[in-house]
Amino acid sequence: MIKTPGCLFIISAPSGAGKTSLVRVLLQSGLNLSLSTSHTTRPPRNGEIDGRDYHFVTEQKFKQMLFDGEFVESAEVYGNLYGTSQHWLSETMSFGQDILLEIDCQGAKQIKQIFPHSIGIFILPPSVEALATRLKTRAQDNHEVIQKRLAAAREEISHVAEFDYVIVNSKLDEALNDLICIVKAERLRKERQMITYKALVTQLS
Ligand code: 5GP
Repeated sequence: MIKTPGCLFIISAPSGAGKTSLVRVLLQSGLNLSLSTSHTTRPPRNGEIDGRDYHFVTEQKFKQMLFDGEFVESAEVYGNLYGTSQHWLSETMSFGQDILLEIDCQGAKQIKQIFPHSIGIFILPPSVEALATRLKTRAQDNHEVIQKRLAAAREEISHVAEFDYVIVNSKLDEALNDLICIVKAERLRKERQMITYKALVTQLS
């Protein structure tokens, strides 16, 4: 079998849509996806581990990395800087590995421009009330940050049409199932299958 280029999945959502939990269960579902660990200037939250959840760096370090072209995409989100490592992405892609980027809309747009075949998935909260409740009960950020994120959520949601798929996360297991369906369907696209099974198709035709 010929090595087929991996799928590049982008998952975006407004803060409070439940994206992080969804991504966590997706990664445990045996689909063999590699999640990129972003760099950020945001301070770690309780329980977050450097190198696992993010690479936590100073603003000075981030800006130096940006200047050195170390990010394939980057954005400022809620006053903090975030970026995806160019080196990690190209190396992981070279293995034909399927990749997951959990990034915001600005980053998603940059990735789509560079990799037009990347697959954008947008996660919506089931209602404004659910979004507000999730942001408040999370309580890891202070009041001012929560208000900022609520306002930013509407802006983020205005970009929904730029994505290929939309999932409403009202029940985690249903949203997970939707995500799994997308991953499996994308893996079965004829463009990919015709590369993977070129010899078989030739023999059979
Ligand atoms: P949080 O601080 O809550 O972990 O993430 C805030 C936002 O930044 C989320 O929308 C998250 O998807 C986004 N984000 C995380 N890493 C990256 C990245 O590398 N690039 C971009 N553009 N956004 C990111």
